[in-house]
Amino acid sequence: MDLGLSQEQEMIKTSARDFLDKECPKKLVRDMEEDAKGYSPELWKKMANLGWMGLALPEANGGTGNSFLDLCVLLEEHGRSLLPGPFFSTVVLGALPIAKFGNDAQKKKHLPKIADGNEIVVYCQTEPSATWEASGVELTAKKEGDHYVLNGTKLFIPHAHVADTLLVVARTSKGAKAEDGITLFLADAKSPGIKFEGLKTIASDHQSEVTFKDVKVPAANVLGHADKGWQIVHAISLWGAAGKCAEMVGGAQKVLEMSVDYAKQRVQFGRPIGSFQAIQHHCANMVTDVDGSRYIAYEAIWRLSEGLDAEKEVSMAKAWVSDAYRRVCALGHQIHGGIGFTKEHDMQLYFRRAKAAELAFGDGDFHRELVAQKIGI
Ligand SMILES: Cc1cc2nc3c(=O)[nH]c(=O)nc-3n(C[C@H](O)[C@H](O)[C@H](O)COP(=O)(O)OP(=O)(O)OC[C@H]3O[C@@H](n4cnc5c(N)ncnc54)[C@H](O)[C@@H]3O)c2cc1C
Repeated sequence: MDLGLSQEQEMIKTSARDFLDKECPKKLVRDMEEDAKGYSPELWKKMANLGWMGLALPEANGGTGNSFLDLCVLLEEHGRSLLPGPFFSTVVLGALPIAKFGNDAQKKKHLPKIADGNEIVVYCQTEPSATWEASGVELTAKKEGDHYVLNGTKLFIPHAHVADTLLVVARTSKGAKAEDGITLFLADAKSPGIKFEGLKTIASDHQSEVTFKDVKVPAANVLGHADKGWQIVHAISLWGAAGKCAEMVGGAQKVLEMSVDYAKQRVQFGRPIGSFQAIQHHCANMVTDVDGSRYIAYEAIWRLSEGLDAEKEVSMAKAWVSDAYRRVCALGHQIHGGIGFTKEHDMQLYFRRAKAAELAFGDGDFHRELVAQKIGI
């Protein structure tokens, strides 16, 4: 059984790593934490020129027709380099749903611009209740003539302040189940009545509270069908959770490498600390977690990419990798001793992002609950 990458995927991986080593050093990562935009438009353009934004889009829509699996190989490298900015949001949470559920006019309007790097899409689902379940969608959209009028608040939305288009999950009616009556809208982020307020977060990932007050969105901007949007939210959650796993695997791999290197160089009691059995066991536990995370993540990603049923596998992967990345960071800190706690060291950058990725699209407990349901408990 060969679980390796194809030749093309190896090329995506190595070219992305070379590019990001050069274009996304940790100085940029640190600068973007303080930057008002939170990403570099110059780097964004270069990434678009490499074809990254259109990687998983059909050729007819300005993309290169690669698979979701290929995209995740790229995301793993993004996680390794801690690439800042709205790539995940635009490409995974914006472009993929538009390509799959959008009508011809919507695809024509948005996808070539996304692929060229000229449009940033931001997905707005979570609200003050902070749940990923359908019951959390309380922002209302009321039909008035050929428009809908949106009112409510979205919370913890990364990069909303730099979005051109917001993909908004709204409640258009109340049905028997919370999943009924949900509709997705492609809203112009500059529409009157939309307000952004920045939030300070552990990962410095430029999240916002976005409020909608009597925001008019044309009925033509409904993605999919009115009241039947939960199946799109569900698809986005699967892509989002699986894609986050790929990013986390990349970050965890880098933390492992940093820690093994440090264990070989750092001398205490006259020997490298890597020669102490305690540190060797830490490294063995880390590599087991990193490789285990990679296998469980790519099994889920591959199934999703092939259009197979992947719900249990995605939840198993998100539950496992969320916890494993946190464990790997904790052991990385232990091996680095005092230096790893300092702001100047890169360990804290990874640890803070591991915490944010753990929560995105549901943490370990949320997904363990879904796995339990899938096996009939
Ligand atoms: C928040 C914070 C504040 C601090 N403030 C100060 C301060 O104000 N002033 C100051 O002087 N210091 C300060 N320190 C540094 C602190 O004293 C040292 O970090 C601490 O003693 C650990 O030493 P180290 O970083 O050299 O780690 P190391 O000794 O290099 O240890 C690294 C890893 O190797 C393991 N290890 C080391 N030796 C062995 C062995 N013989 N067998 C098995 N495993 C081993 C350790 O358990 C650890 O996991 C601070 C540290 C922190 C985290």
